[in-house]
Amino acid sequence: MRQKQFKAESKKLLDLMINSIYTHKEIFLRELISNASDAIDKLYFKSLTDDSVALNKDDFYIRITADKENRILTISDNGIGMTSEELENNLGVIAKSGSQKFKAENSDENIDIIGQFGVGFYSSFMVSKNVKVITKAHGSEEAFCWESSGVEGYTVTPCEKETVGTDIILAINDNSEDISFDEFLDQYRLSSLVKKYSNYIRYPIKMEFETTVPSEENSDEYNSVTEDRVLNSMLPLWKKAKSEITEEEYSTFYKEVFYDFEEPLRVIHSKTEGNATYNALLFVPSHAPFDYYSKNFEKGLQLFSKGVLITDKCSELLPDYFNFVKGLVDSEDISLNISREMLQHDHQLKLIAKTIEKKIKSELIKMLNTDREKYEKFFDAFGTSLKFGVYSDYGIHKDELKDLLIFKSSNDKKYVTLNEYVERMKSEQASIYYAAGETIERIEMLPQVEKVKDKGFEILYLTDYVDEFALKTLMMFNEKPFINICADEADFDTEEEKNALNSDNEANKEMFDLMKEVLPGVTSVRFTNKLKNYPACLTNEGEISAEMEKILRSMPGNAPVNAEYVLEINIQHKIAEKLKALFIEDTSKLQSYAKLLYNQARLIGGLNIEDPAEFSNLICELM
Ligand code: ADP
Repeated sequence: MRQKQFKAESKKLLDLMINSIYTHKEIFLRELISNASDAIDKLYFKSLTDDSVALNKDDFYIRITADKENRILTISDNGIGMTSEELENNLGVIAKSGSQKFKAENSDENIDIIGQFGVGFYSSFMVSKNVKVITKAHGSEEAFCWESSGVEGYTVTPCEKETVGTDIILAINDNSEDISFDEFLDQYRLSSLVKKYSNYIRYPIKMEFETTVPSEENSDEYNSVTEDRVLNSMLPLWKKAKSEITEEEYSTFYKEVFYDFEEPLRVIHSKTEGNATYNALLFVPSHAPFDYYSKNFEKGLQLFSKGVLITDKCSELLPDYFNFVKGLVDSEDISLNISREMLQHDHQLKLIAKTIEKKIKSELIKMLNTDREKYEKFFDAFGTSLKFGVYSDYGIHKDELKDLLIFKSSNDKKYVTLNEYVERMKSEQASIYYAAGETIERIEMLPQVEKVKDKGFEILYLTDYVDEFALKTLMMFNEKPFINICADEADFDTEEEKNALNSDNEANKEMFDLMKEVLPGVTSVRFTNKLKNYPACLTNEGEISAEMEKILRSMPGNAPVNAEYVLEINIQHKIAEKLKALFIEDTSKLQSYAKLLYNQARLIGGLNIEDPAEFSNLICELM
């Protein structure tokens, strides 16, 4: 019998499939099962209005049969089947959706046709040397067999088949030197592939399972038994009504599917209709995965189209700052045949991503307002992501995220939202004060802290490397500017105090100049009212704070940055009088004192001493 030729495009695709070294060969099973499920859908919908269909809803099924000995894998369905014309039209050329996609992709220099999702029926050639399709259409008396061993072409011949439906019969490839195809005949592997990709297909996917059980007569003997198993769970949890799902079911599902041993902190289950129609089942984990801060971590949600998994990690569905969310989206608006390339530009997917982002935000806000303890646990695990989100992309997301931020503060070292901070600000307080350091303990040792606390002003304690960058990006909250208490602009003096201080500084200008002479690290020296018990501190001038300097310097490839410092001496401290006396009696000692005070201030501020040997010699001299 004469072979028929494939249409040119089909031939190309087929050729790619046969010669594919694609690592995801396993998806052929998903494709065939999904075709079978579509075929059953068609007959099922027909049965609703057409009495000629003898089957009821529960009669439909898909069956997988693995014949290891003969290396034959069969996928059967009792769906609508195909006539001989349909066989020609459907399998001789790439289906319409497919061919358009193929053209679009082909125009690109780098065709990554196998890397796409939904390569359809032809994907069977990734694992088979010969494919037979035996099918009988609903309403037809005749059955036909389509057969092909690859690009050479295909035949369609009449054959025998009793019942309506389709059998796809794959002659699985022989193992080559580097690839084994045995897995596609192994019952456990097949069963796990069904679970992975087709668990929520609406019809039962059955397979004869061979197991051994201890014999009843003799416990040392084992008998082999075969049982018919349904491999898929069928009803997607997310399609059930919320009221029918227990917390435990959600939790078990989460742990099984997303490989976590702990309960999720929050479950978000939503059904959305309108511009974007989808079901989403999302989880906020209770802890960061071990690779969360590594390059290997990939964000993303599982994406289903009508219960069929399209991809395990669709990164387009989550913004970076919500990268910790796990879960899935099932939408009828997404085609099963969508490619990875196309996902990035898919309009529908963008709409879904937008509403999902809103949903996540509102759920986090809800958690913040109603379950503070949980929210703080969440923030301990993932807060850095949110703060990074404020700061990245030049701050375009900052307004989205600012209400989700919490910081520990001088108020019992407890977490506070920016809103709470502003609400309890003292009436005479104009700014939101913060201080940055490696730990809360270190921050509390900063000389500047005492006076601010005495005034009754709350201080946000920033200990995360991204904190200060985030606040600098925000600039203000509810029109209150953020001010680092170690910065020049943190000024709590009244007009009167300011004037008095200015004239003191004027009067001692020569002394300060002498001190500055031996301190290349500072831009000036002056008296201050900021301190209570400490003799001196370093105050930042300009945009870059001490903490930021440390962080920026630790990043590879950054040009060295320098924070600008002023050495401020506590005007109330005994040391102020001592310095004035030395200025008259012994200017060389004055300069030694200047160095000591400067290095002391560096130490207390969490900075290194530039010349430790000199520092220790100076102390010895004094002793
Ligand atoms: P797609 O599923 O994207 O249309 P395929 O190449 O997988 O592309 O399948 C082509 C067509 O062949 C399907 O659209 C369908 O009409 C038909 N077909 C495939 N498998 C079956 C089946 N098991 N039963 C009935 N028709 C089928």
